[in-house]
Amino acid sequence: MNFNKVLDNCNVYAAGKPIELVVREYGIKADDVIKLASNENPYGTAPKVVKKVQDLAKNMFMYPDDSMYELKEALASKFEVKSSNVLIGSGSDQILNFCVKAKCNENSKMLMSKTTFALYEIYGKQVGCKIIKTKDDEHNLEQFLELYKKEGADIIFLCLPNNPLGECLDAQDVYEFLKEIDSDTLVVVDGAYQEYAKYKDPKKEIKVNDLISTFPNCIYLGTFSKAYSLGGMRTGYGIAGEDIISILHKLRPPFNITNLSLAASIEALKNEDFVQESIVKNFVEMNRYEEYAKTKGFSYIDSYTNFITLKFEDMYESSEVALELLKKGVIIRDLSPYKVNAIRITIGTNEQNTRVFKVLDEVLERCKKN
Ligand SMILES: *Cc1c(COP(=O)(O)O)cnc(C)c1O
Repeated sequence: MNFNKVLDNCNVYAAGKPIELVVREYGIKADDVIKLASNENPYGTAPKVVKKVQDLAKNMFMYPDDSMYELKEALASKFEVKSSNVLIGSGSDQILNFCVKAKCNENSKMLMSKTTFALYEIYGKQVGCKIIKTKDDEHNLEQFLELYKKEGADIIFLCLPNNPLGECLDAQDVYEFLKEIDSDTLVVVDGAYQEYAKYKDPKKEIKVNDLISTFPNCIYLGTFSKAYSLGGMRTGYGIAGEDIISILHKLRPPFNITNLSLAASIEALKNEDFVQESIVKNFVEMNRYEEYAKTKGFSYIDSYTNFITLKFEDMYESSEVALELLKKGVIIRDLSPYKVNAIRITIGTNEQNTRVFKVLDEVLERCKKN
C-alpha cells in the first residue's frame, strides 16, 4: 500500500522505558525498579489532587467540559493573561503539534538547537518540513540568528530550559533575540521546566504576559507533566495572542483532555506548596549528583531542570552504562541516539539517588574503558 511519502522520512518518538519492561525482561520486582528516565516529579502527586480524582472518578461516563472554562481561568490568573490567550492540549506535545501544522508544509523550514526535544523534529518531518539545526548542542543564539538570517524559518523552537541537556538561556538574551525575528515567524518558547529554572535563577524566568504582549509572534508552552506531577493525566497548555490561539483552536480535536485530567490540573494549581517543596528538594538532591560526577572525574551540564546530564567523554560508552544500569533495575536515558556520549538522569528522591550512586559505582567500574 502507498502512504503519504513524507512518512518515509519519519521516526517514532522513543519514550522512556516503562517499569513493566524491566520487570518482564530482567525479572526484577517492580518495587525494586527505579525509573528516572522521563523527568517525572519523583515525589508523586499531591494527596489532595489524588483525592479529587478519586472523588470524581464516578463522573467518567460523562464527556468533559469542552470549553475547559475553569482550568483556563486558573491559568489565565496565574500568568496574568486573558482566558482567550490560553489553549489546553493533551500534554504540551499536542500544542507543539498544532503549532507545526498551523505554520508548516513541504515548503517550510524550522529552526532549532542541535540537541533538543526530539518531538520538534518528529512533528516537522510529519509535514515534510525542512529541519535546520545549530552547530552547538546547547542553545546558542548567535548561531540561531546567523542561520535565521541566511535561511529564514517559518517556526523557531526555543527550549528554556533545554531537554535533554538541562541548560537555560537568560530571559533578557531571549528578548534581545526575539527583536530580530520577523513577525511572520512563529517562535515556540517551550517552558516545560520553567518552574525549576526560575527557582534556581530568577534571570531565567520568562514573564509570559510580557512575552506575548511584546512579541505577538511568540507562543509559550507549559505542562502539568513535570513539576506539577501529572504526567499520566496529559495536560499541557499554550499561551499566546488571540490570533494565534484561535488558529490553533481549529486544529484541536474536541474533548482533547479528560474530565479527570481537568479536575486534577485545576486542583494541582491550588497545591502550589507541594510543587515548590519538590522543587527545593530537587536542587538539594541535584547537588549530590554534581558532587558524584566530580569524585568520578567526569563533567556534567549545569542544569536548570529536574534532571542532570552526565558527560562521559572517552571514559565510558553511554549506551553501555545505560544498559548495565537497566539490568540492575535503574532506568535512565542514554543520549547516544542524540549523538552525545552522555546519560540523562531524572533527579529522584533522596533514597532513590543513594541507590543510583551505589549501582552506578558498580556499573562504572565494569564499563571503564581500558
Ligand atoms: C516533557 C516535555 C514536554 C511536554 O510534555 P507533555 O507531557 O506532553 O506535556 C514538552 N517539552 C519538553 C522539552 C519536555 O521535556
